[in-house]
This record gives sequence, structure tokens and C-alpha cells, in this order.
Amino acid sequence: MSEESWGRVRNELIKRVGKTNFSTWIEPLSLIGVDAGIAAIEAPTKFMRDWVSRNFEEQILRELRASGMVVERIEFRVPDLRPIPAADVVRPVAAPARKPVRASDDDLPGAPLDARFTFDSFVVGKPNELAHAAARRVAEGGPVSFNPLFLYGGVGLGKTHLMHAIAHELSTRRPDMRVLYLSAEQFMYRFVQALRDRQIMDFKEMFRSVDVLMVDDVQFIAGKDSTQEEFFHTFNALVDQGKQIVISADRAPGEIKDLEERIRSRLQCGLVVDLHPTDYELRLGILQTKTEVYRGQYPGLKLADGVLEFLAHRISTNVRVLEGALTRLFAFASLVGREITLDLAQECLTDILRASDRKVTIEEIQRKVAEHYNVRLSDMIGPKRMRTIARPRQVAMYLSKNLTTRSLPEIGRRFGGRDHTTIMHGIRKIEELMVDDRQLTEDVDLLRRLLES
Ligand code: ADP
Ligand code: MG
Repeated sequence: MSEESWGRVRNELIKRVGKTNFSTWIEPLSLIGVDAGIAAIEAPTKFMRDWVSRNFEEQILRELRASGMVVERIEFRVPDLRPIPAADVVRPVAAPARKPVRASDDDLPGAPLDARFTFDSFVVGKPNELAHAAARRVAEGGPVSFNPLFLYGGVGLGKTHLMHAIAHELSTRRPDMRVLYLSAEQFMYRFVQALRDRQIMDFKEMFRSVDVLMVDDVQFIAGKDSTQEEFFHTFNALVDQGKQIVISADRAPGEIKDLEERIRSRLQCGLVVDLHPTDYELRLGILQTKTEVYRGQYPGLKLADGVLEFLAHRISTNVRVLEGALTRLFAFASLVGREITLDLAQECLTDILRASDRKVTIEEIQRKVAEHYNVRLSDMIGPKRMRTIARPRQVAMYLSKNLTTRSLPEIGRRFGGRDHTTIMHGIRKIEELMVDDRQLTEDVDLLRRLLES
């Protein structure tokens, strides 16, 4: 069974089931193979598998046969339950269409910009406020105050979003400016192409003629010597002319391996800002903002209280996964005509929730709490009963119950073999105190954030 014929089958299916159904249900499927008359098809989740087999099996079967395959029946599968890297889990279904917009000038070989990545749609919170402020400054298009702006942070934290936002903003504020955005990979590709076509002079000239150069995911060029070399010269030429450069990477300049020392120090001499992992408030803010967009797209769809809070709490990996979850949730709910409730969320997001399960351990909790209150780790487990030690211990018990899936007896065992009623008492105590004690509430929140990030 070739990719090609599965491609044809899929094309036929678009016509049969319609675009929305297709992108929600059929597109995420992959055909694994046909053996002895059985076509094995994989769906990303159980929920999707069941839905597809109930609603589309006949049509898929028909199209498989029409394409000349000898198929008796279809066997729908889900991937086995190995932990899946969170970033790969979500394939946004029925996502709003991306409208590619070119970075300003047509003669520049920039990458298409995502029209949705604007400052308006970027939610600002503690973890990204500095990066956002710096990006805003660059987007004013005024005199260059730091060069380069180096943004770094983990996957899905908004680096690309901010760079596109800068380009969008500049294209309205400063239409006279030549803005070029591209990934480091594209930079390399262009460079290699220019070498091959003996157009290296054109290449140099073109890159040196821009007013703002943005290179995304620069860690990509580490170890690629001649590309690094060319990048270095381009970089220097632009900085010398007082042109703005914005760079992103998945880690700090000092941590990128196989990067030439002179490039590293060049990258460090502007403003280096990191995007921190999201916190609960930021995640909730992002979900609320996106929900507003979806309300417009799916009028009449009901969203129960607590669902967004639940997602913000449970999906702490990255924003892309968070968005994917919300997209899928709305698509499902509208297709099955149900209200979005906690149950529905748990049902259709099993895979994402599983992959995002935080693996905070009781030991980690004890360590962080001991550090925070400046008591010994051994006192977390030991018998001392004075309040300066008992209170932190109870905080650790409370967090253990809330951040792990351990039972009370298990928690008791990790706290020096205490009885589960002691643990319960400790947890209750903290819950009671938190009602009036603001300091304690703040401590607990802080610890929770530290442990979850
Ligand atoms: P990165 O380039 O850091 O890997 P992206 O910029 O591609 O991450 O962001 C991943 C997704 O998350 C995008 O769809 C982006 O719009 C969204 N996103 C990230 N941070 C925010 C934020 N603060 N507000 C709104 N959306 C965000
Ligand atoms: Mg990116």
C-alpha cells in the first residue's frame, strides 16, 4: 500500500464526508498497512477510533476498495500506551485556516507569516512579560536600542509568535522598512543554494539590504560550519549598519553546543531574554482568549464552569499542546452537539492529559518545601513536633496529596511511616489555615508553581 494510494483515498473521502468532518476525523488517521484483507488504520485516541469506526467505517472501506485494494474489513487501532512526547501529541483538528502573509517585500525570500500571530492575540503574563516588552520595543521601528534581541525558551512558549508579531506590526507602522523573517534552516538552505548556483554575491547583497532581520531557531546552525561562518558575516554587516536583528533559540547562547565562540559572544552582546515555562494564570488567560475566538466560530456551544481551569491545571507542558486541546474540544463538542463539560474533556483528551501528567514526586515536594522554609530535609520525615517544623511538613503533605496521585497511606509511608489519619489531619489543617492566612496561601501557591514548572 503506497502513500500515494492512501492519499487518493483521502482525497475521495474529502468529497464524501465534507471538509470539516475530514479534517476532524479522517485527516488524523494513518493507514498502517493491509494484510490478508485487513486494513489496519490508526487513530490518535480511543474516542476518535470509536467515533470513526461508528460513523465512517463504511465509507472508508468503500474508498479503499474503489482504489483497487482487496480489503475484507478494517481494523481500527490506537497507538499503544507508551508515553508520547507531549509536543507530538496534538494534531490540531479543524483549526482556523492559516492565511499566509509574506513578510513585507516580495523580493525578499522570507518565510510566510502566520496572520494569527499578532501582539493582539499574544497573552502577556509573568513568564513572558519581559520578552513581550522587548518585542514591542523592536516593533516600534525606532532607533535600535539593543542588538540583537535574543529570545530563548522551550518549545511552544511563543518565540515564533512574537517574531511574527514584530513583522506584522512593522509592516503597518513602518511600511518603508525591509523586514525579513526566516528560520535558521531556511537561511542555511538559501545559502547552500546560492553556493550551488554561484550566486553568493546576490545572497550577500540581499541579506545585507534588509532593515530588520529575524532568524528563528538559530540553534539549528550549530555545528554547520560554513553556514555559521556566513551567518556571522551577515550578522556583523547588519549590526555595523545599525540594522535590527532578532534571533530566537531553544536555549541561551551559552548553552548552544557547537556554536563558534565569536558567534556566541556576538549573540550575547545585545539583550538576551528568556520565555519562562507558563504558569497557571498565563495558561488560563490563553485559554480564555482562545475561547472567545471559538465562541464566534461555534455559536451556541455551551462551556461548563471549571473546564478551562481544569485544562490550565492539567496541561502544563506548552502552549501549543494547550491550544490543540482546546481546538479539539470545541470541534468534538460541536460535532456531537454536546455541552463542553469536564467529562467530555476527559473523554476526548485522554491522550493529551496522559502525556501531560506531571510526574512530581513526594521526595521533590519534601525537598522544595524544606528549602523554602529553611528546615532540614530529614525533619520532613522525622518526629519533631514543634510548629516551625510541623507546619512545613503539613504543607508538604498537602502538596503531596494535591500534586501526585499517591494515596494517603502511601504518603504516610514517605513521611517516616506516619499513619494515613495523621496525613489527613495535616492536609485538613493546611486547608483550614489557608482560608485566613494569606502568607501561607502565597507560600503554597509559590511552591505549587515551582514544582509544576
Ligand atoms: P515557539 O516558537 O516558542 O516554539 P510558538 O510561537 O510557535 O512557540 O507558539 C506555539 C503556539 O502557542 C502558537 O500557536 C502561539 O500562538 C501560541 N502561544 C504561545 N504563547 C502564547 C501567548 N502568550 N499567548 C497566546 N498564544 C500563545
Ligand atoms: Mg518556533
